[in-house]
This record gives sequence, structure tokens and C-alpha cells, in this order.
Amino acid sequence: MLSEHGNSVCEPGRRPIVPGGTGAAPYPWILTLDIRGLPHRWVTWQAACHYYALDMVAWTIGDSQFLFTGGICRATGLRSEITANSIIAIKGRALRASTLHQVPPLNNRELFHRDRQLCAYCGDSYSGSALTRDHVVPVSQGGRDVWMNVVTACRPCNQRKSNRTPEQARMALLYAPYVPNKAEYLILCNRNILVDQMDFLARHLPRQSRLHMP
Ligand SMILES: [Zn+2]
Repeated sequence: MLSEHGNSVCEPGRRPIVPGGTGAAPYPWILTLDIRGLPHRWVTWQAACHYYALDMVAWTIGDSQFLFTGGICRATGLRSEITANSIIAIKGRALRASTLHQVPPLNNRELFHRDRQLCAYCGDSYSGSALTRDHVVPVSQGGRDVWMNVVTACRPCNQRKSNRTPEQARMALLYAPYVPNKAEYLILCNRNILVDQMDFLARHLPRQSRLHMP
């Protein structure tokens, strides 16, 4: 697939893609890898073009390609063009394998996505604005604000549970919390992932990931 974007030219061609949610320009995010193929981070198309221009792209594997056009070179009269792939490995960027398992930052948006927007107590599905972060062991009882101690809960369930553990409140947890790995976190961060990017990241998901569920 070849789509065209540029400083003043925007012809996505196939479908508009809004990276990272609302308000952003309709360009895809590019997935960067380290030199050995470990997923690293999302970058904007501008950053991807920067890597290409500096000859820092070691290899590519994505199915999608995007043509970015820049200004006209005064010397040659030619318009500059860079074709960027949807997945690019950056030279010299060798991450430790343990990086894949580093604990990603905890925030509500990714937490709610981890839990598929289902309340851990009543099991119903809600929009993000109706959900809360519930501490399984309440902070007032020494519970920590970490992935392993938080679940998604609707407001009524969170209020009913109050500052109690599930056992104290007699409210059974319907699913267990877990720590997403790097690949899962990258999926949770980006709601407009291209198919090839998703296929690549899915191969690095931990077995217990709820993203494996249909
Ligand atoms: Zn609920």
C-alpha cells in the first residue's frame, strides 16, 4: 500500500488515520524497532523521515508504505521525497531483551484498554468516561498504585466497594490484574494501528494478555 503525505500535500489515499486519538493530524504513527527487531516506540512520520534522511533506517518489514513529499530543491528543481515504511528498525539502537518486560507507566487510558473497558466487579462494558481506576487493595490499607493492584471499575461498583478489599466488600473480582509488556503497551497506546503493525506486536504479547481474546 502506498499513501502520500507531505508538508503541504495530504493524500492518505486509502483511509484517514488519526494517531493517538483526537486532535492529531491524519497521519499514521510509524513503529520503530531496535536493530534486532524488538519493538521500541511509536514515532511521528516527521521523525521517521528524519531517520530516513540521516540513513538511520537499518531495515523495514511493514506491508504499508507512505510517500512523504517535501520542498523543492533550489539547486536541482526536484521535489524531495521519502518513502517510509510502517515498521522500521533503527541503526545502532540495540535494546536489552529485558526492555520488552520493563513495567510501562500506569495510566487510566491504557488500564481501561488492558481490561477491555469491562468493570472487574459487575462485568459490564462502559465508555472510558464512566470508568475508574480501582485499587484492589485500597491505598488506605497499604495497596500500591501499580498495574498488579489496579483494575477497571464502573463508578457505582467503585463507590460500593469503597475503601475495602474485594473480600471485605464481598465483591468477587471477575478477572485478575497483570502487567502489560512493552508490545502490549504499544498496542494499548495507539487506537489506530495498521494491520501489519498489529500483527508484528501481537507476536510479542505475553500469553496472559487479554488482547489475545477475540
Ligand atoms: Zn461495575
